[in-house]
Order: sequence, then C-alpha cells, then structure tokens
Amino acid sequence: TVGMIALDARGHIRVGTSTSGLFMKHAGRVGDSPQPGNGFYADSAVGAAAATGLGEDLMKRPLCFEIVSLMAQGMPVQEAMDKAVYTFIDQLQARNGAVGEFSYIALDHQGNFGVATNVEFQYAVFSDRVAPRLYLAMPGNDHHVT
Ligand code: ASP
Repeated sequence: TVGMIALDARGHIRVGTSTSGLFMKHAGRVGDSPQPGNGFYADSAVGAAAATGLGEDLMKRPLCFEIVSLMAQGMPVQEAMDKAVYTFIDQLQARNGAVGEFSYIALDHQGNFGVATNVEFQYAVFSDRVAPRLYLAMPGNDHHVT
C-alpha cells in the first residue's frame, strides 16, 4: 500500500491510499486500505493518518481514526501514534502471540509528522520548510534520515 497525506497552504488536509491488497488474497477480500478509520482518516481541523501492512490485523482496530482522535484531544502527533499503535501491537501480541507487519504515518494540521511501525519502514517527506527527505523508521521509533 502507498499512503499519502497532503496539507495545502489553506490548511486543507487530504489522505489517500492505493493498494494491490495482499499477495495470494482471496477473491473479493476487502482490506483495510479502502476503509475510513482503518486504512486512513483525515480531519482538516486536526490531522490525518494512513496505514500499510497486514490488513487482517490492521482491521481489528480503527487506528487511523484513533490516532486523529488523540491528536484532537491535544496530543502531539508522534505521541498519539506511539500510544495508539504500540498499545495495539502489545494487545495483539498478548492475544494472538503473533502480530503482522504494519506501519502508520500521520500529519497534523501544522505540518508535524509522525510514524509508528513494527518493521523497517521507509517514508518520504516533501515540504516547503525542509528539503525532500527519505526517512527510515525502525520498530519502536528510531528514525534515520537516509
Ligand atoms: N494493507 C493492505 C491490505 O491488507 C496491504 C498492504 O499494505 O500492503 O490489503
């Protein structure tokens, strides 16, 4: 899945996802990517989030909605992601003993971004504030500029 979040000069936030789904998926399977709340969520007054990874796990909680809801309560974007995503990973691990690979990106309405992942995950940031950059996020939020 490719997820993209855009914030324009007038403060409008848009989020989109594009996916081929999972390799060898059953015919008719609908994953997380087209589902608001699960695969993506945006509120221009707050921010937006998008997901990629194993939809069967991603769909167990509407984490994109939860991330934006935590931001709406005043939580900074990275903190909101850490709280929502890593809590969820711990719950899945405890319940199922295993967790699929997944990654989330988020952006707030002021242009601050965050990421949370349980795999090595590359993402790009384009902004008029800084030069375009590729980042490599590690599980537990160790970010490296590549
Ligand atoms: N999330 C997608 C799905 O489960 C797959 C992916 O992100 O690669 O359909």
